[in-house]
Amino acid sequence: MQTDHQIQRELEALLEFHLEAGIDSFLGDAPIDWVARSVELASAQRQAHAARTQPQSRPSAGGRAAGAQRPGASAAVPASPGLHSPSAAAFGSPPQGEAVAAQQGKPANSTPGLPTAQTVQMARDMAASARNLDELRARLAEFNGCSLSLTAKNLVFCDGNPEAKVMLVGDAPGREEDQQGKPFVGRSGQLLDQMLRAIGLDRSSAYIGNVVPWRPPGDRTPTQQETELCKPFVVRQIELAAPEVLVLLGAASAKTLMGATDGIRKLRGNWMTYPVAGRDIACIATYDPAYLLKSPIEKRFAWKDFMAIRHRLSHSPE
Ligand code: URA
Repeated sequence: MQTDHQIQRELEALLEFHLEAGIDSFLGDAPIDWVARSVELASAQRQAHAARTQPQSRPSAGGRAAGAQRPGASAAVPASPGLHSPSAAAFGSPPQGEAVAAQQGKPANSTPGLPTAQTVQMARDMAASARNLDELRARLAEFNGCSLSLTAKNLVFCDGNPEAKVMLVGDAPGREEDQQGKPFVGRSGQLLDQMLRAIGLDRSSAYIGNVVPWRPPGDRTPTQQETELCKPFVVRQIELAAPEVLVLLGAASAKTLMGATDGIRKLRGNWMTYPVAGRDIACIATYDPAYLLKSPIEKRFAWKDFMAIRHRLSHSPE
């Protein structure tokens, strides 16, 4: 028979296991299948969206509704924007849910948890219909297609000055960011502030967003499905902010916005161009400050990248 002390030790070990697995907040008595919940919500939102766009839709050869032609959607987010780089080819690959379903001869939404073509299209339509950054934030807050929005406390949309010449895009918020609803406010934010200060910038002269605006549970890396669903919104955010220099902080940000398959080690430090609304924005990838906290040896490369950013900004028109 177990003693009280043994039972307590086992319970503590179980709690520790949960913490390590990323379960760090208590939500309710019974487990909830958030993936299934988000699939239901996204499906309801898609139906409402289809009902709204139906009267204006003109079936194309493939029979797909022309949802992007809604009023106010003139500056539609392109289906496959990407950088001018040899590795940008992967950008336009179809969403996985659709690809898997197509292979299996099933309807596109038959793979729970993966983004369907309709959900990605809905995200594109919602993002494209935002005429300014406030509207974009509101659209994101309404968007039910990504299950992360169900577990996060807050939407983490932006910080800093949207008029700034430089925009930085991180991967996804962490715990502190989720609590405050602002990107880069935890320890990684303090490091980012130091890096910005080193090149003469602060949050009044930089605009900051994330590819995924909701915290992934346990601060795990966002999945490709999650980044794919959120991408139309961050693409529109870049388009509306229209910075002169775009800095991609981290692997998920660089891969999502560059459409690249290389790791961040290979991607970082190379200037590329990011086409937005007929204009090429200078773009560079570097390490996420959160990664630099764990691997300080890489700071020297981030330093080099920030020096290159300073140089580029000092040569851009006032
Ligand atoms: N890392 C990110 O990519 N974004 C944040 O907001 C914080 C840390």
